[in-house]
Parts: sequence; C-alpha cells; structure tokens
Amino acid sequence: MECESLLSQLESLHPVALGSCPTPLMPLPRLSAALGGPELWVKRDDLTGLGLGGNKVRKLAFLMADALRQHADVVLTTGAQQSNHARQTAAAAAKVGLPCVLVLGGDAPPTARGNYLLDRLLGAEVRWAGERPLLPALAAEADELRRAGHHPYVIPYGGSNAVGICGFVAALVELVQQAQARGITFDAIVVASSSGGTQTGLALGARALDYPARIVGISIAEKAAPFRQHMAELAAETAALLGLDFTLTPEEFHVADGYLGGGYGVVGELERAAISLVARTEGLLVDPVYTGRAMGGLDDLIRRGEFIVGERVLFWHTGGAPALFACDGELLP
Ligand SMILES: *Cc1c(COP(=O)(O)O)cnc(C)c1O
Repeated sequence: MECESLLSQLESLHPVALGSCPTPLMPLPRLSAALGGPELWVKRDDLTGLGLGGNKVRKLAFLMADALRQHADVVLTTGAQQSNHARQTAAAAAKVGLPCVLVLGGDAPPTARGNYLLDRLLGAEVRWAGERPLLPALAAEADELRRAGHHPYVIPYGGSNAVGICGFVAALVELVQQAQARGITFDAIVVASSSGGTQTGLALGARALDYPARIVGISIAEKAAPFRQHMAELAAETAALLGLDFTLTPEEFHVADGYLGGGYGVVGELERAAISLVARTEGLLVDPVYTGRAMGGLDDLIRRGEFIVGERVLFWHTGGAPALFACDGELLP
C-alpha cells in the first residue's frame, strides 16, 4: 500500500490539529559513539507541541475528533498519579474546549508536582481512586456523570484503542516520508511500550507500507506473552476500523521484557544510568518511567549484539520529561 492511500484512510477520520507534526528526526552521533554499536537516531515525539508534548498527543488528535463527533460534553481518562497520558488528555480537552475529569491512582499527594501540577494548571478535575482499581473507578465516575445528564467520552489507559492507535499508524507514515526525504532507511525502531498502542500503530503502519524496520517494544510493565496477545487484539480492532485487509499475530510483535526492574515507575540503576548518559552525550532528556527504561534497554540490547555496527536504529522518544520534576535527587547517578 502507498503512503497516500493509507493517509487518505486516516484523514477520513478527520483528526483534530492539536500539536505540531512532523516532529524532528535527528541523528545521535555522540550517543552512538558512546555505545559503540549501530548508528542511532531519535524521533522527537517529546516535542509534539501541546501541553509539553509526548506520544499521547497523536492518539488524542483522533480521540478528540471522535469525542466531538459524538457530541460529548466531558472527557474522562485514568492513569497513575504522574500519568503523562492524563496530562496530555487534560491539554487536548482544554484545546478543544471540553471539560476533563481525571481518575488518578492512589491518594492526593501533599504537594502538586510534575504532571499532576500540570493537570491542575490545565484545568482538569482530578478524582483519586484511592485503593480502588483504576478501570472500575473510571467506569463509576462515567456512570455518575451520565446519571447527572452528561455525555462523557471515556478514553482507556494510554488512549490505546482502535481510534487512538490511528495516531501511530499516521506517525509511521510521517517517519517513512521524513526518512525517504533524507535518503535513509532504518533497520529497527525501538520504543517504550506500556498500554501497547504506540507499538501497535507503528507495527500496523510498517506492515501496511511494507517498511522493513523491526519494531521493538521495550516493555515497561508486562511480560511478553500476554502483552503480545493484547497488542494483536488492538491491531485487529484498528485494522478493522481502517478497512485494512490484514492484521498482525502475537508472534509478529517484538517485545523485550527483560527490563521490568522493580515494576512500574520504580527507578533503578538501569534508568538512572540511561537518563544521565543521554543527557550528558546529547543534551537530551528522557524520563524516569518510560523512555529512561527504554533507553536502558536499548543500551543493553546493543551490548548483547541485538543491534550491530552498520545498522541504523531509531529510538522513538515518547516524551515524559515532566515526570522528572516529581523526582528528587534519587535520579542523580
Ligand atoms: C504512555 C507512554 C508510553 C507508552 O505508550 P503506549 O502507547 O501506552 O504503549 C511511553 N512513553 C511515555 C513517555 C508515555 O507517556
């Protein structure tokens, strides 16, 4: 399939203009030299240009279009206290003029910092889930709004449903066009993978265009087997929405699950070392939860010979740096 025909499928969903794309595609010469393996590049989706940026802006362009089409009068989503997705949803809702309710995990912290501070500045109403699991708490909040006569639009974890994932099918097309214009191709794309929508969209887009790069997800919180299964389900839903005549099997998703460390959001030596290495070689900031872990994973995969001299590897920077401001000196090496 050609870029143009895939783009016209995507355009038929009328995504709203939220940020600024294409995001920069840049070489990382000093990091490449420091790691001594493949030629490394970065796709700067930390610079998507809305509410301090990040990968969720691309998904929200499609999700907000859907919310407006359904005449929603309030947008809801959920995540951890320092959720980048929640912050970008608050920004997107503000931008299209809808109120936003966020159901965040745990209890209110003593001070508003990092993403949670930004949620508040962006005008979101925050409800704390306390000990309750997040998805039932989100559903209960939506029910309450319906009973009060509202039309809530509920966005799942990470914006990862078929509608949101279209944003990353479009992102893959954007990358391919950018790379073609520079006369380069990538052997692999490495990305932090958590709710799975980013990786699923990139993998579907690559298959649609027959782009040969391996899309490797560094799992943030899940073992590979159930995660691959989950992404295959997301791929099937997205393929159906876009009218594609193929989908992806679980085995077609490359997942590295060796970097789960102490669990979601627990900063260990891997993340600490990666954050300062990238900062000191390239002046580039990665985050403590997602991109720091993914960059640590990439470093390790290079050491293990998964990516080698002569290959060109793209690190897809998904954002998250605002969470740095909810950390203290524990990040320093
Ligand atoms: C949400 C997020 C991810 C993971 O993206 P998914 O589509 O949920 O897999 C990676 N990095 C950052 C900074 C994020 O906020």
